[in-house]
Amino acid sequence: MDAAPLEDHVRLILSQPKNEVIVNFPVRMDDGSYELFTGYRIQHNNIKGPYKGGIRYHHEVTLEEVKALAALMTYKCALLNVPFGGAKGGIRLTPSKYSQTELERITRRFTHDLGNNIGPEYDIPAPDVGTNSQTMVWMMDTYMNTHNANDKNAQRGIVTGKTLNSGGSVGREKATGQGVVYCIQEWADEHGFRLDGCTYTLQGFGNVGSHTAQILSRLGAVMVAVEDHTGTLYNPEGIYPRKLVEHVAEHGGVAGYPGAKTITSDEFWEVECDICIPAALELQVTEEVARKLKARVVVEAANGPTTLGGERVMAERGIEVIPDMMANAGGVVVSYFEWIQNKRSESWQLQEVDSRLHFMMKNAYQEMRAFARANDVDNRTAALAVAIQRINVMYVERGVFP
Ligand code: GLU
Repeated sequence: MDAAPLEDHVRLILSQPKNEVIVNFPVRMDDGSYELFTGYRIQHNNIKGPYKGGIRYHHEVTLEEVKALAALMTYKCALLNVPFGGAKGGIRLTPSKYSQTELERITRRFTHDLGNNIGPEYDIPAPDVGTNSQTMVWMMDTYMNTHNANDKNAQRGIVTGKTLNSGGSVGREKATGQGVVYCIQEWADEHGFRLDGCTYTLQGFGNVGSHTAQILSRLGAVMVAVEDHTGTLYNPEGIYPRKLVEHVAEHGGVAGYPGAKTITSDEFWEVECDICIPAALELQVTEEVARKLKARVVVEAANGPTTLGGERVMAERGIEVIPDMMANAGGVVVSYFEWIQNKRSESWQLQEVDSRLHFMMKNAYQEMRAFARANDVDNRTAALAVAIQRINVMYVERGVFP
């Protein structure tokens, strides 16, 4: 790719989100009391297409976090060449503290209050940490009930990551994990590395982590340590992901799983392995953690799991990083497929979804690596450069209004 210089005005535009929507809204709880919630929707950029990105429900959500994650979506979509811009939303709350009916009212009122700030051709939410396909279906239903149109079919594209019954795509639920594995396969091919029998550690066993683990285990990779918000497990002989999924469904977390011993979080990062996969939250691989790691490659299944210090130490130690915008892009790619299927009233077969996803992940991965090699930079710099160049070219052609 030609390294066109980044124009000053493009740098300026990308330095801030285009829109920041903040809504405060009351919701009646099951016991009759009321709570006030703050919801965010940050729209970073839409030069390449409608704003796109997840909605996060977590007790640590802040405006600054959502802004950073929205920008990351812009670059992720540009790197993968999906015709979307970047956005992110969230509400600061602990989902496990609320009943399903409360979560439904919170989601519906939030969607209502976002009003025309979202739309199937304007800004399309999706699941993220703490939300799922049910959350998306509530959002879709609320949007349909508050936006009068005859074309209900087209309105289904207001959100992606829906259930199959309500217009979701096959393969969307596992898509982020599937994409993580496609990246690992690319990395392994490049290094002549055999995945069969290799070891990995995994932080986070939610949607992304659990699917990544199940797909990796089918390729013969062995999970030797896993951590979530309830505990940390270690078994050098391997932890069986399918069994762990059943345990988590029953107990709400990995803690108490009988097939492994409990270790501390500090010990988790010291476990010897080939591949380390952070699949939880931001800022986990700090300078201190990076010094302990005994992995050859860190695959960022989470968004923003590495701090600047962590990045520097890993570079010094020769640990390769597959950055978030590449590694976890499978989710938004299949969101794009879901949106197309809704527009065309189609439903694709899993094989079609997976092979298109594979094609797009592979292309982006190879572009990232080609740029990294040609310019002697790390993968994150390369991925960002490829993404920003695509955006830069469009701004240069279109100019700035007026
Ligand atoms: N929340 C996911 C992400 O961070 C998916 C976003 C989407 O599908 O729009 O990439």
